[in-house]
Amino acid sequence: MSYRPVPDYHMHTPRCNHATGCVTEYADAAVKAGLTELGMSDHSPMPGDYDKAWRMGHHELNDYIREVEHAREKYADQLTIRLGIEADFHPGTETYVMEMIETHPWDYVIGSVHYIGDWGFDNPDTIQIWDTWKIEDAYCAYFKLVQQSAESGLFNIIGHPDLIKKFGHRPPSDSKAVNDAIEMMLQAVKKADVTLEISSAGLRKPVGEIYPQTRIVKRAAELGITFSFGSDAHSPVEVGHAMDDCLAQLESFGVTEVASFKKRQRTMIPIQRTA
Ligand SMILES: [Zn+2]
Ligand SMILES: [Zn+2]
Repeated sequence: MSYRPVPDYHMHTPRCNHATGCVTEYADAAVKAGLTELGMSDHSPMPGDYDKAWRMGHHELNDYIREVEHAREKYADQLTIRLGIEADFHPGTETYVMEMIETHPWDYVIGSVHYIGDWGFDNPDTIQIWDTWKIEDAYCAYFKLVQQSAESGLFNIIGHPDLIKKFGHRPPSDSKAVNDAIEMMLQAVKKADVTLEISSAGLRKPVGEIYPQTRIVKRAAELGITFSFGSDAHSPVEVGHAMDDCLAQLESFGVTEVASFKKRQRTMIPIQRTA
């Protein structure tokens, strides 16, 4: 199945210290892949330059915004470029994040959970900490944080909504605790009217699966939750990666449109098959 390309809203720049490619290179890749809309969403700074090896410093924010705005002008007749940011939901940093959001002209803000307490659970450097956790407990803690990120009202999009599975750690599929945590998270997403990201990045990780897993997509679709697409590209060659697979999955659960954001206002774009 192939589809008319939809916006890809999740990509990074070298400011986060683990991506390559400037904004114009991402834009070139998007044009080449037939996209008409792209959104940059580099990792936001954190207070006190927390975990700065994996994100831009506060002093780099304005430079990032300028680079995106410059590319937006340059590509105006070929591609719509949105200014986004991938912010962290990490309890205790909400005031800083809110201020960072309110003082810059974002088209959308992705809220992502990358930490349980001070553990960066998706960081390969601290993968051994998994051995100290019962997998079920890690999943429950993670989904509770995602639920709180939706309830915070800070974000437009929930990033890679089951990132906790990245390295392939799986709780029993009949775990009531995990299933309840997922349901509560989705109810919060629905209530807050936040958009859920469907991300192809998991296909490139040990888990080898789209974020979020099929049954979360299915339940979210039942609840009428909206979706946006993100490749989480850390290099221009990843722009639009496996978009068709993600759109096919959405379509199989009756989802007919995906989200686009301008100045933090959402509009919906139809999913259209081309073959
Ligand atoms: Zn992320
Ligand atoms: Zn990302």
